[in-house]
Amino acid sequence: MATIKEEAIVLRAYDLGEADRILVLLTSDSGLIRAVAKGVKRTKSKFGGRLEPFNRIKVVLHRGRNLHTVTQAEVLDPHGKIREDFRRYLFGEVILEAVEKGVEEGQVIPRLYPAVGITLKVLETGPPLSLACAFLLKFCALIGYRPQLDQCLQCGERVRGGRAALDLSEGGLWCGRCLQGRKDSAQFLMLPEGVAARANALLRQEMRQIELEIGKDLECLALAVTFAESFLGKRLRAARLALEQARREQVGAFRDEATV
Ligand SMILES: [Zn+2]
Repeated sequence: MATIKEEAIVLRAYDLGEADRILVLLTSDSGLIRAVAKGVKRTKSKFGGRLEPFNRIKVVLHRGRNLHTVTQAEVLDPHGKIREDFRRYLFGEVILEAVEKGVEEGQVIPRLYPAVGITLKVLETGPPLSLACAFLLKFCALIGYRPQLDQCLQCGERVRGGRAALDLSEGGLWCGRCLQGRKDSAQFLMLPEGVAARANALLRQEMRQIELEIGKDLECLALAVTFAESFLGKRLRAARLALEQARREQVGAFRDEATV
């Protein structure tokens, strides 16, 4: 077939020459697709703002040998509340970036499209940091790297609290007892008390049920970003930016408390 008609979420749009843009789309049935939107930067373009990141669209693409061309687009949901809010936008980009970098072109990951759709919808009102963290963990699981966050990889005991570390080469936890005598190394990400259990809850919880746990979710996000980068073998720039911002906010919050 020469045309593809599908629903899609715009992950990224970047300029191509004077007037065109390349879009990275997560489609409902054909996986990740790159397509060119011609003349989209002209003021009279028929596409207007329909092809901006975060938009859920109905799109018609003309199949090309190397690159598909967008011929029609209609916005189904612009996720306006993400766009209007700096923090929601920042953490939303963590989600879009992970999908763009973690999925190959044409690769179809079952359940990914609805998962991204639900996450963006919930992100319009829910807690951005916790949702971005939960999405990263769930995304890793969907693409085949489910982190093992309840039992120790070494002894098989349930990790309930105390010292623990995430083994980045194996994708699972070590309990405090098994860690004894081990030196810190790049293989291990040391986890503060309770962070593994919280990350495990975020991995399993439904997006709509997630609420912020102050004091734990920042460390959970650090865990999720490090884990995802390690398995993808890629740096997640938007995720690192969001993490830095969250750290600055936490420092700011402590300072405010201290001056009260
Ligand atoms: Zn153990």
